Amino acid sequence: MHGLMMDTPLLISDLIRFADRNHGDTEIVSKTVEGDIHRYTYRDAHARARRLAKVVQGLGLKAGDRIGTLAWNGYRHYELYYAISGMGAVINTINPRLFPDQIVYISNHAENTALFFDLTFLPLVEKLAPQLKTVKHYVLMTDRAHMPAKSAIPKLLCYEDLMAQQDDGYEWPTFDEHTAAALCYTSGTTGNPKGVLYSNRSTVLHAYGAALPDALNLSAYDSVLPVVPMFHANAWSLPYTCTMVGAKMVFPGPHLDGKSVYDLIEQEQVTLSAGVPTVWLMLLQHLSANKVRFSTLNRTVIGGSACPPAMIRSFQDDYGVTVFHAWGMTEMSPLGTVGTLKAKQAKLDKEARYAVQAKQGRGIFGVEMKIVDEEGKELPWDGKRFGNLLVKGPWIAAGYLKGEGGDPLIDGWFPTGDVATIDADGYMQITDRSKDVIKSGGEWISSIDLENIAVGHPAIAEAAVIGIQHPKWDERPIVVAIKKPGQDVSREELLKFFEGKIAKWWMPDDVVFVEELPHTATGKLSKLTLRQTFSDYRLPTA
Ligand code: AMP
Repeated sequence: MHGLMMDTPLLISDLIRFADRNHGDTEIVSKTVEGDIHRYTYRDAHARARRLAKVVQGLGLKAGDRIGTLAWNGYRHYELYYAISGMGAVINTINPRLFPDQIVYISNHAENTALFFDLTFLPLVEKLAPQLKTVKHYVLMTDRAHMPAKSAIPKLLCYEDLMAQQDDGYEWPTFDEHTAAALCYTSGTTGNPKGVLYSNRSTVLHAYGAALPDALNLSAYDSVLPVVPMFHANAWSLPYTCTMVGAKMVFPGPHLDGKSVYDLIEQEQVTLSAGVPTVWLMLLQHLSANKVRFSTLNRTVIGGSACPPAMIRSFQDDYGVTVFHAWGMTEMSPLGTVGTLKAKQAKLDKEARYAVQAKQGRGIFGVEMKIVDEEGKELPWDGKRFGNLLVKGPWIAAGYLKGEGGDPLIDGWFPTGDVATIDADGYMQITDRSKDVIKSGGEWISSIDLENIAVGHPAIAEAAVIGIQHPKWDERPIVVAIKKPGQDVSREELLKFFEGKIAKWWMPDDVVFVEELPHTATGKLSKLTLRQTFSDYRLPTA
């Protein structure tokens, strides 16, 4: 027997239509590429997104077409999110920090018919355009005043000129909720990036999940600043989730240094922000160097790579900002778990609470998890046994665009490539990326645990731990670390700092101090690059 409820499709265009109706005067504030502040409301954004849908159609682009962007977090990028997905086409947000070859690969693989890009990326696009085989239209996301006098791109179009030629009399079409909406390529440390194709349905369901009180706890009370870029897993869905709940949005544009982010947080009374640990490192350094505090920020989402407990402590103890440690991946839209406390844990003493928060968090309804051993046998949720983490749910990828890499699923579960424990309360803790875990004497050492200890030392700014070949033990860990400006610590002192915090055989074999650590295009430590850099390094113990 079927239920007798309406079968209305879950469409992205309904998010912005709803925001216009219910939160029409709530602001969307952007710091532009040019450096000034742009302000308008959900009502204005909705009108402009409809106008933009007419622009896109006017260029001859149709439902199902893929349309690329190379853009920062800003209102025009937000309009593109809604115009493109709302008309039934697919927005392909390309990460401009990727190698040029990868950008070309992605655009050609997606068969993008148009490319919208910020002024910052004009030189890059001019260089790449001859190789972008499928792109017919190049649109610079600026106004007439900022258009270049001449460009290597013939028929370079101006976003605001195109907008001026249309009106906002556009009705969002209704279509199947499974229709593709957005396309993000995974960072892909090896091989070519692979395309993850979100649907309208998966995006709306994910936004519901992300907004839940035990996830990001978002509401119309909030002013939200996504530092995480709109080209990194849809800024962790904030452009959809904030629209769903009517939160004010604050876009930082390319201004991502500690001072700019801090000033914008204060000026726009931001209550929640989100980004990878490296960004927060810059912000925390700015706060301590200038002895300033937040007046409105009360929580921050930190994910993308493990958030060191020292960072959680600093935010909470020094600045009164609650940290939501979150885990996910591009293939998961991206949210999987968030580290919010249950009532029973809120009653624990501070150290015990911090131990819970250092984990990557509990699954959101919509994300089922399990851990399995090497043979695929399910492991218990005891917080001790660690194994390969698999996930399942309506906002998790079932495959990659054009079937690249074959069928990724194992009995209907998506293998995350992460190694984790899950405790009896459902809190998952990432031990490592399976490629990064250090195998010593047949046992595993967690590089994340060692990194967390290293950055807990007052003189260490950032640290990476990698495994180095060892004739007897297979691999042994070494710490590669950056010291904080004006602080000093010796190799021996840092090694001593590990004593009593880990099993003896986990003790790193060496410490190497460096000026800089390599990061990927999404701001994660690039262990791959680091392993290459240290390929000739010999352990003192070997
Ligand atoms: P991406 O799809 O580029 O966002 O990468 C996803 C991967 O980032 C995950 O599979 C994890 O290995 C890693 N990751 C994301 N969030 C966390 C976290 N909070 N702690 C540890 N690793 C994380």
